[in-house]
Amino acid sequence: MLALKDNTVKIPNGIALMFAMTVVDQIYEANGVETTVITSCQDGKHSLTSLHYAGQAFDVRTWTLPKGVSPKEIVRQIRAKLNIHFDVVLESDHIHVEFQPRYSE
Ligand SMILES: [Zn+2]
Repeated sequence: MLALKDNTVKIPNGIALMFAMTVVDQIYEANGVETTVITSCQDGKHSLTSLHYAGQAFDVRTWTLPKGVSPKEIVRQIRAKLNIHFDVVLESDHIHVEFQPRYSE
C-alpha cells in the first residue's frame, strides 16, 4: 500500500492522479474487487468548472463492489489514504476523485 508522508508532500498533477488511482485500486482489491474500472478522466460531460477538464479528476465505478461493502466505507478508506489536496466524493454510480492542491505557499 502506497502512502504519503503527510500534507507537505507535493506531487505533480499527473502523478497525483496516478497515485490516487493506485490507492483506489488497492482499496478495491482489499475489498474483494478484482478489476477497478475508471469510467472517466479527461472526457465525458461534467459541470463547467469540473477538474475533469483540467485532467485533475477521475471517476471509479461503484457497482462492482461486493454486496455488504458500502461505497461510503470505501470513500472513507480512500480519504484516509490521500492527503488534504484530494477531494473524494460519492456520486450515485461512481466515486469522483479530484486533485485540488491547497498548498499555503
Ligand atoms: Zn467526476
